[in-house]
Amino acid sequence: MTIEQLYQLYKESPFISTDTRNIITNSLFFALKGEKFNANQFAAQALDAGARFAIIDEVAYAIDDRYILVDDVLSTLQALATYHRQQLTIPIIGITGTNGKTTTKELLYAVLSTQYKTFATKGNLNNHIGVPLSILAIDDTIEIAIIEMGANHQGEIAFLSAIAAPTHGLITNVGKAHLEGFGSFDGVKIAKGELYDYLKAHEGVLFLQGDNAYLVEMEQQRAIKQVVRYGFSDSNAIVGKLVSANPLLTVAWRLQNESSFETIATQLTGSYNTENILAAAGVGHFFGLTTRLINEGISAYTPTNNRSQIARTAKNVVIADYYNANASSMAAALDNIAVIEATQKAIILGDMFEMGEESFAEHKKLVAAALQIPTVRTIFVGKAFFAHRTDTVEFYETTAAAREALVAQPIVDSTILLKASRGMAFENLMAEL
Ligand code: ATP
Ligand code: MG
Repeated sequence: MTIEQLYQLYKESPFISTDTRNIITNSLFFALKGEKFNANQFAAQALDAGARFAIIDEVAYAIDDRYILVDDVLSTLQALATYHRQQLTIPIIGITGTNGKTTTKELLYAVLSTQYKTFATKGNLNNHIGVPLSILAIDDTIEIAIIEMGANHQGEIAFLSAIAAPTHGLITNVGKAHLEGFGSFDGVKIAKGELYDYLKAHEGVLFLQGDNAYLVEMEQQRAIKQVVRYGFSDSNAIVGKLVSANPLLTVAWRLQNESSFETIATQLTGSYNTENILAAAGVGHFFGLTTRLINEGISAYTPTNNRSQIARTAKNVVIADYYNANASSMAAALDNIAVIEATQKAIILGDMFEMGEESFAEHKKLVAAALQIPTVRTIFVGKAFFAHRTDTVEFYETTAAAREALVAQPIVDSTILLKASRGMAFENLMAEL
């Protein structure tokens, strides 16, 4: 079957399923393979559950004409998404970067959806499967789409860009993460820069944090034609500033040629989110939204999923940020707790995973940086931090040991930064705060 023929079937009933526990009636079921599963085995089950056709790549499972045999299910899904994108004439904003992709995507959605029928990647579906599924979820009513693209190795952003064909793009920032896959910080810049390469080649519009020296340099190397700058200095088209963080942010922004600032009270914490907010203001302004609508969208946005959420417990205010961690997001989180207006602060940091050979040095740097900030208690948790232990500071090798310490001596009446890589299971510490 050709992609055009498969596309006809998709257009008749434009729904895709990949999980037999969650089959959409009349959908195309794509029997993907993972490390531990081969969904060819579940194709019959998917059809029983209501799928219209099953796309499979092992002939042994093809029973009747509801089974569509292809060479490779994953590349067929990607080809179908690429084809669908080519039929759509809407602007698509591609977002990548080391930190803040999902938050920026959601802020952009909050702003643009005040005026346009907008689609944005659901959750964190940002990889070689998630991006095609996101594209295939864009229907004819959508006027503008925002697609998050993640990467942990070279070539991935180029590949995802070819599928999503962004007309507009944004790299939130570049920092030290996934160094095992990228090799080095230069490797990160090359990999993320593939989005700029795509925009350059296709005359796309770039939204640029104009005060981020790395991003500015990456843009200059390519000389992209249309660039909209946002940031903190007056040279940007959108100029913004952090007004206060206590701990929710109040920010202000203005257009370059205006003299007075618009102030917005947000539901976000984390001083680093200021630039994500300015990105949303810049994108909203570019697409013709009024200042009023931009500000409405930003102030209404409330984050979910432990991405810098504020949890007010009976004992403390916790900045719960243990969904992921890397060197740059850790540094940003420390900057944030440092500027927060609170009489008593505490910091609990857990290991950063996937840091490769820079792990030792980066954990060491963080210990030094965290200890600069006055707190009632600063606690380090995990094997990588434990390698830097000293007698005068609290270091625990495991989350369980840290939890015991918190039970024995609770933290109260404090604003607490709780941050670690997901694998540290810091929800167990959250329970004691
Ligand atoms: P993932 O790689 O898991 O998809 P992401 O890039 O989508 O992550 P978010 O989920 O938006 O990022 O945010 C993750 C964390 O990154 C935040 O909780 C915060 O600690 C940090 N972060 C967010 N924005 C920035 C920023 N502009 N600069 C530095 N760190 C940031
Ligand atoms: Mg994300």
